[in-house]
Parts: sequence; structure tokens; C-alpha cells
Amino acid sequence: MQSLLESRGIRTFIRNEYGSSVVGELPFVEVVPQLFVLEQKDLARAKELLRLDLPVENPGEGWVCAECGIDIDGNFSRCWKCGTDRRD
Ligand SMILES: [Zn+2]
Repeated sequence: MQSLLESRGIRTFIRNEYGSSVVGELPFVEVVPQLFVLEQKDLARAKELLRLDLPVENPGEGWVCAECGIDIDGNFSRCWKCGTDRRD
């Protein structure tokens, strides 16, 4: 989602991008990665883009991160845990 928005010129940041390392010390809801849009004016457009571009069918096969070895959903082009890009 972040790369989608950034490719459209919408600036974002991810809170808790590496938060999984502290799972167990904080309530889960506090450590899941959250995508934020920096500019208020971009928010409506960001929502629109994400809704339109969300894969609804044929999301592709899942894959395994080459760095940390976790299973990633086919929807994602990079590892949600360590940020490594998908390698085919
Ligand atoms: Zn990884």
C-alpha cells in the first residue's frame, strides 16, 4: 500500500514497521504496522487509490521472504516484517 501511494506522489510513513520485535511486551494492536498519510489533503485520494487498487481476485501466490523466511501473502510485494522486496 505504501509503495502504491508513494508512486502516486502521496507521502506516507509506517508506524511500527519493525514493531514485531516487541510483540509480547505491548498489546498487539499497538505494534501492528500502520500506514499513515503525511498530508491531510492527500487522505481522500489515498483512500480512493487503495480502495480501487486493492486486489480483489487473483492476488498471486504467497511467497517466502528471502531474508527472514516468513510466509508473505501474495498481495504484498515486500516483506511486512523486514521490508525486503519480493524476489522471484
Ligand atoms: Zn522478511
